[in-house]
Amino acid sequence: MTQKVLLLPGDGIGPEIAAQAARLLEACQNAGLDIEVEEALVGGSAFDAFGEPLPAETLEKAKAADAILLGAVGGPKWDKLDDLSKRPEKGLLGLRKNLGLFGNLRPALLYPQLASASSLKPELVAGLDIMIVRELTGGIYFGQPRGIEERNGERVGFNTYVYSESEIERIGRVAFEMAQKRGGKLCSVDKANVLEVTILWREVMERLAPEYPDVELSHMYVDNAAMQLVRAPKQFDVVVTGNMFGDILSDAAAMLTGSIGMLPSASLNESGQGMYEPCHGSAPDIAGQNVANPLAMMLSVAMMLRYSLDEPTLAERIEAAVGDVLDQGLRTADIAQPGEVHASTVEMGDAVLEAFAKRG
Ligand code: NAD
Repeated sequence: MTQKVLLLPGDGIGPEIAAQAARLLEACQNAGLDIEVEEALVGGSAFDAFGEPLPAETLEKAKAADAILLGAVGGPKWDKLDDLSKRPEKGLLGLRKNLGLFGNLRPALLYPQLASASSLKPELVAGLDIMIVRELTGGIYFGQPRGIEERNGERVGFNTYVYSESEIERIGRVAFEMAQKRGGKLCSVDKANVLEVTILWREVMERLAPEYPDVELSHMYVDNAAMQLVRAPKQFDVVVTGNMFGDILSDAAAMLTGSIGMLPSASLNESGQGMYEPCHGSAPDIAGQNVANPLAMMLSVAMMLRYSLDEPTLAERIEAAVGDVLDQGLRTADIAQPGEVHASTVEMGDAVLEAFAKRG
C-alpha cells in the first residue's frame, strides 16, 4: 500500500535542507519505495501565508500522513509577534500535541570520521552510539497547576511535576523495544532519591523489565547521568527519561558528537506515526547561503524509513552513503577543520545521492 509522507520545509535553512531530503526521497522511490510525498507550510512561512503557524490544512495533511518530515521553524522576523500563539514554534508544538507524539528518539551517533569535531578526547567518543528516549508530552513542562502568583507579599513561581503510571509505561515500552533492537541495555534516568514522581517512574520501569528478559535494565540519578555522559559516554546504549531531564541530557549528548548539523530525531505516537526532523533549528544566521549541512535532515529520512515506514534496508543504505561521503573527505563548514575546503548544501546533497546510487 502506498504510504504518505508529508514534507514541511519550514523557515530559515529549512527549505534548503528539505530540498536535499526531497531529492533523497525521490531516489528511494526510484529504488522501489512506494510513497506519495506532499508538501505544506508550517511555522513562520505558514504565518506569512495564512496568518497561522499551523494552518488547518497542514494539520489535516499531517493527520493523514504515515510520516512527517520537518525542516525547522522560527526566525527573527517572527520573534516580535506579540501574540505568542502565532509564533512559529507554536506550529511545532501544535503538531506534537495534535498527533500525540509522546516518544522522542534522539540518537547521539558520532561518525568515526568526525571524532576530532567533538569537544571530548577522540578515544572517549569514537564510535559513540547512544539513543535517548525522552517523554515529550507530559512531566513538568505540562503539569498543572502552574503559574506565578502573589503569596505573603512576594511573587512565587510554581510548576507541577506529574506522571501517571500509563504515561510512564508507554514511554518505557518504547525504550525497552528500542533496547531490544540495539545493544540490549537500557538505563532509566530519574531523581528517585528526591522526587516521588520519579520513585513511581522507577517502579514502573522495574515492573516492565520481566517482560523484556533480553534487556538489561539499570537506573541512574540524573545528576550522575550528566556526569557520566561527559566522563564515559560509551557506557550507554539506550537511555529513557522524562521530558525535562531528557531535554537537557539529549542536548548534552548531541554536543558530544561535535556538530548539531549531523543529528536527526524522531517523535512517535501510539500508532507508530512519526515526525522526523533535525535536532537543530532554522539557523537564520546562515539561511539562504547554500552552506547549511543537510546531513541531519537526510539522516532524518533514514530514521523515518526505519521507524515509520518499515524500510530498514533503505535506512541503512542512506546511513552508509553518508559514511561514504565523510570518508571521501567532504565537509560542510560546520564540520570542517580549519583550512579545509567547505562543501555547499547542494554539493553535499549531490554526494550523498551519488553514494546512495552506488550502494544500490
Ligand atoms: P540553531 O540550531 O538554528 O542554530 C545554532 C547554531 O548552529 C547557528 O550558528 C547555526 O548556524 C548552526 N547550525 C544549525 N543547524 C545547522 C546546519 N544544518 N548546518 C550548519 N550549521 C547549523 O539554533 P538557534 O540559533 O538557537 O535558533 C534559531 C531559530 O531556530 C530560532 O527561531 C529558534 O526558535 C528555532 N529553533 C527551531 C527548532 C525546530 O524547528 N525544531 C529547534 C531549535 C530552534
